[in-house]
Amino acid sequence: MLPAIDLHTHSDRSDGTESPAQVMAAARAAGLDVVALTDHDTWDGWPEAAAAVERTGVALVRGAEISTSAGGISVHLLSYLHDPDARGLGAAVRRVRESRLGRARRMVDRIALDFDLTWEEVEARLEPGGTVGRPHIADALVARGYVTDRSTAFAEILSSRSPYYVPYDAPDVVEAVELVRRAGGVPVMAHPRAASRGRVVEDAVIEELAAAGLVGLEVDHRDHDEGARAQLRDLARSLGLFVTGSSDYHGAGKPNRLGEHLTDPAVLEQIESEGYLPVVRP
Ligand code: AMP
Ligand code: ZN
Ligand code: FE
Ligand code: FE
Repeated sequence: MLPAIDLHTHSDRSDGTESPAQVMAAARAAGLDVVALTDHDTWDGWPEAAAAVERTGVALVRGAEISTSAGGISVHLLSYLHDPDARGLGAAVRRVRESRLGRARRMVDRIALDFDLTWEEVEARLEPGGTVGRPHIADALVARGYVTDRSTAFAEILSSRSPYYVPYDAPDVVEAVELVRRAGGVPVMAHPRAASRGRVVEDAVIEELAAAGLVGLEVDHRDHDEGARAQLRDLARSLGLFVTGSSDYHGAGKPNRLGEHLTDPAVLEQIESEGYLPVVRP
């Protein structure tokens, strides 16, 4: 049987609900052979996840999902196996985390005009060294009983079209691809056609990213319908990019289940051959 490889998950170092060790245990329970931990804008969870490899028997791909912008359109860029000490990439994600923090506080200020909610309630949900996002505000709203779950919070109070929404600063996506490459990482564009999250980029942007060093597109993802997948597969073929499939697991924070989409072992081989770090194997 082919190894089961899921290359996109989140822990509580960003907006997942489980610790890195719990994500590894959940990966084992889901029957995965390989899992990538790709928290938003941080790799703080890597040591804890790596320490669980032996115990769980699940191999770990150390990664991250970097928040970037293409002319105002939010683009998520997965980076695999980069050097965690690379200066340029490290500084870029540190700036995004700072900006996300100021943005979350401003969103809470706005929400607090209409709801009983304090910054302290949101802050209490953050791990040190982690990355704040709207899901943390969502959880505080759920705890207050204003909404039943994260999805409802996103559909109503936290939507990018809501008056409470505040954007954050993120590096340009072309620059981010170059920073990932310079850090020895393997850049893959996350859910390029996830239209439910907001505007998505044109094919021309993906062409530009391929020229800048992008190596793959995340195609099999629950936010893509069959049409989007077929179109992305064609685009990947014409640009010489590989394709991945992943769950984008967030623990209890989203319905996404570990292993609901998988990546071809040959693609993982290519990622490992191009990455600075090795895959951590049991
Ligand atoms: P932010 O990065 O702060 O703008 O928040 C976006 C993050 O929230 C994404 O990484 C998603 O994983 C998560 N998210 C977006 N929509 C939803 C939803 N409907 N339910 C739960 N989480 C969501
Ligand atoms: Zn997330
Ligand atoms: Fe994402
Ligand atoms: Fe994600």
